[in-house]
Amino acid sequence: MVEIVKNVVCPFCGCLCDDIEIMVEDGHIVGTRNACRIGHAKFMHFEGSVRYTEPLIRENKKDDFKKTDYDTAIEESARLLVESKLPLLYGFSSIGCEAQREAILIGEKIGAIVDNTATV
Ligand code: SF4
Repeated sequence: MVEIVKNVVCPFCGCLCDDIEIMVEDGHIVGTRNACRIGHAKFMHFEGSVRYTEPLIRENKKDDFKKTDYDTAIEESARLLVESKLPLLYGFSSIGCEAQREAILIGEKIGAIVDNTATV
């Protein structure tokens, strides 16, 4: 039986399309809806590639990472943003989806610069 997972955010490009539907059967992705050809291909061919299944946190500002839980990862991410002197939220390709709106709202709260990939 095919299960449809709705409102998935595509992580591939800066558009952050957040209305992707993923069809899952027996634990495997068998199709997508609303994704462009690139996004569709990324979802369909991710199996077999390296995939992080747990958040990682940097230790002592070195390139050593240890596994952590999601609550700790979110808390640490928020701390880094709040304590940043001049935060930059970068990479949005086109404005219009809910994921980007949420990022911009966070940016307003922390006094960030928000930029997109079209800037040179
Ligand atoms: S435009 Fe395509 S690749 Fe980019 S986020 Fe949307 S579905 Fe993914």
